[in-house]
Parts: sequence; C-alpha cells; structure tokens
Amino acid sequence: MVRPKPVRGLNLGIRAFPSGVYTRQLIERSRVDDKAPAGGITIFLVGVPKSDRGQVAIVLPSIVGCTCMSVLTYHSVDPKWNSTLAVAPERFSAHCAWLCRTRRVVDIADAVSGISRHGRLRGGAVAVTFDDGFEDLYHHAFPVLRRERMPATVFLVAETLTSEGHPVDWVDDPPPYPLTTLQLDQILEMQEAGVRFESHTHTHPDLTKMGDEECRRDLEASRLLLEELLGGSVHGLAYPFGYHDDRVCRLAEKAGYRYAVGSSQRREPVGRYAIPRAGIYRDDALLALRIKSSPWYLGVRKTSAFRAVRAGVRTWRARG
Ligand SMILES: [Zn+2]
Repeated sequence: MVRPKPVRGLNLGIRAFPSGVYTRQLIERSRVDDKAPAGGITIFLVGVPKSDRGQVAIVLPSIVGCTCMSVLTYHSVDPKWNSTLAVAPERFSAHCAWLCRTRRVVDIADAVSGISRHGRLRGGAVAVTFDDGFEDLYHHAFPVLRRERMPATVFLVAETLTSEGHPVDWVDDPPPYPLTTLQLDQILEMQEAGVRFESHTHTHPDLTKMGDEECRRDLEASRLLLEELLGGSVHGLAYPFGYHDDRVCRLAEKAGYRYAVGSSQRREPVGRYAIPRAGIYRDDALLALRIKSSPWYLGVRKTSAFRAVRAGVRTWRARG
C-alpha cells in the first residue's frame, strides 16, 4: 500500500482490497487510516486482486471526496412563499429523512472544535443550518427536526427579537404578505428540544460595506442580546448574504465569536471565520441534495470545470 501524498490538494493513494470486495465504507476507512490530509480531493486507485490467481484484475479510479464535512444552508420552509429561498415542507421532510438515512448529521458547533487550520471541518459529515430565523421554521421545520432527532442550527437576526422589532427587508423576492420571524417563546421551545441558535448579526447588513467600529458594534450587540435572551453563550456567526472579507473575519473574532460561516458564492479563502456552506433551494430535489451534501462538493463547486458543467446543465434544461 502507498500512503497518500498531498499534491496541491489532490491526494493520491493506492489500496488493494485482498478480499476482492470493496465498499464506500471500506474505502473511507482506509482513507482515515492512511491519514489523508484534510482538504482537496482524494483519489484512490483501487486494485482488486483475484486472490486465487494472484493477479490484479481491475484497477479503478475512485473519487471518494475531500475530507471535509458539508454544511448545508436552508432559509425558509414554507408552502406558500414562491421563492427560491423557500423549500416546500414535504420536500424538507424528504430531505431530512434522506440525510438521516444516508449521512452522519452533526451539530456544526460541535464539529467546529475539530476544525483544521485551513478551516476544513473534518469527518465527512453533514451539518444543517438555517439563516434568518423565519417563523415558518417553527411550524414546518421544527416538527421534522424533532421527529428525525436531527441536530440543526438557526442563525437569528437579533434585532427582530427586540420590542421595536426589525422587518424582514433583506430578501429580494418577498411574498405579498409580511414575512415574520421567530418569536422568543418559539425559539426557547425549539432550544429546549435541542435546536441551536446563533447570530446572523443585529440588523442583517452587508458587513463589508460598514466601517470597522460600526461593524464590530453590530456583531457584538447581536451576540450580547442573543446570549441574554437565550441564557447561554453564542459562539457562531453567519454573514448576511454570505458577504465577508478578511477585515470582517477579523472583526468577527474581535466581537467574541469562535467561528463564522459564509455561503461560498465566490472564490474566497477558507478559515475558521470563513467556513463555506452549500445553499439548498426550492428546486433542489434529492439528487441536488445528494450532490451538495457530498464531501467533495464544497471543494469543487468553485472550480471553473464545475461551473462550466453547471452552466451546460442549465442551458440544456432551459432548452428542454
Ligand atoms: Zn440572511
């Protein structure tokens, strides 16, 4: 056996399975045993010897994925809102059942403790997050999370919980009725049942457009208010619209957060304060979920090859 050696994020290993039988689990275990480095794509050339003849019968390239976990982002679970941000409740229920059956779903805050210095979350697992704290989560997502006993984290806009409130004025395609956000008693009930709540800032601004002091104040005010209301520490931050840069990452750390997540829409450096996530949208059926929750997805989605394939599929669909 040859131990995998990292080559610019492409890790190559050769492993023979003497039984002549290999499964995804066997390949995955071999990769962990061989201490393949985090990040990048691991390719194993799998030699399957026919033990009775003592010769290698098949050599297969097998892409088993990078060693990071996938963080998924939902927004709304709502049957009425006709928006890419709103997943239908039946679809969300099917997603959760499939994730629990086929993936190891973990709490993102727990996973962050094992983060690599490149910001990769190890383990090939999946974490589920929700941005914005829309009220429909209480009615349509919470019952499913409870039924499946699935860990999940909701990132709240703190000012929506103040007596003055804060209208949902940050979505591009709002419904013809006012969008409402979770109320404190709903949040506390969900928290009691195991749902984790973290910060999505105080006012949902584009942090990259704020001055240092204004940005730090917003981030700190959000953390302090949520800690007071939730009765515990708030460690995580989700950047509004996923927008962040090095300066915003540093300010998030200064404001007392231990990790922050983006949305991975652009090419950007990955780190503890820039953990990439994959967005799940209204039209994402199980095949899209399968792809987006694969351990290789976040590593390849920003490559030009992947963008070209995706553009090709969209054009083909539009023609069809
Ligand atoms: Zn948001």
